[in-house]
Amino acid sequence: MKAHEQTLAYLKTLGLQGVLQGLDEMINDAESRKVSYLTFLNAVFVAEIDFRIKRRVERNMTGAHFPVLKGLENFDFGRVKGIGKSEAVNLLDCRWIDTKENLLFFGPPGIGKTHLAIAFGRTAVEKGYKVCFERVTNLIKLLKTAEVQKSSEYRIRRIMKSDLIIIDEIGYTPIEKWEANLFFNMISELYEKVPLVVTSNKSFESWAEMMGDTVMTTALLDRLLHHARVFTLDGESYRIKKSRKEV
Ligand code: ADP
Ligand code: MG
Repeated sequence: MKAHEQTLAYLKTLGLQGVLQGLDEMINDAESRKVSYLTFLNAVFVAEIDFRIKRRVERNMTGAHFPVLKGLENFDFGRVKGIGKSEAVNLLDCRWIDTKENLLFFGPPGIGKTHLAIAFGRTAVEKGYKVCFERVTNLIKLLKTAEVQKSSEYRIRRIMKSDLIIIDEIGYTPIEKWEANLFFNMISELYEKVPLVVTSNKSFESWAEMMGDTVMTTALLDRLLHHARVFTLDGESYRIKKSRKEV
């Protein structure tokens, strides 16, 4: 077997896909620039590390379960009150994830809450964080079925091990007291360990009504609001504005 073929076989055996993909280019580059053995060896390692980081980000992007991908670059800050562009851009550094701060977005439907939540979550994934996105109704469904359904158990386990959890659409549908209790237990477990991004169309005051338990809702809000940045958004619904334009 020729040396080149032998190398390819070794790389396959070791599962070094990053090196495998870039090998010829790295060899040509090293030969033309006459780099030292050590420099070449380091380039080989870097190729594999970069490949693995990229693959992990791709896997985490899929595993986050974003309903669509949105970014701040196509968010029109002129339409919405309650968050400034520079403030939002600053949040892209993800420091709030390291310091375990929550971001809470409130406001009427169509104002861009989910768009912003996805934009921050997506950037976090690109920076190497593990993120999970769930609508609250689905999250509760997962919690209810985790004991009997493997896929739910698996998802809940991934959620609990994330670096950031996005819980979307709290308040659109009322939840039963025992479901709210499951949700509360989860939030308690995550408290000060995993930061959350939460979106809701209901003000804090309406949460108790929606969850059917004032004491528990107060305790829930207490945990969410401790170390949190709250954005109360306002403006005209983007969806309505768009459909009006189309009509
Ligand atoms: P909400 O979660 O507040 O109900 P969404 O984030 O789902 O609203 O926004 C509804 C639609 O309008 C989405 O397609 C979103 O991308 C778009 N949208 C909302 N606000 C803006 C904005 N300020 N700039 C650009 N697109 C927006
Ligand atoms: Mg939404």
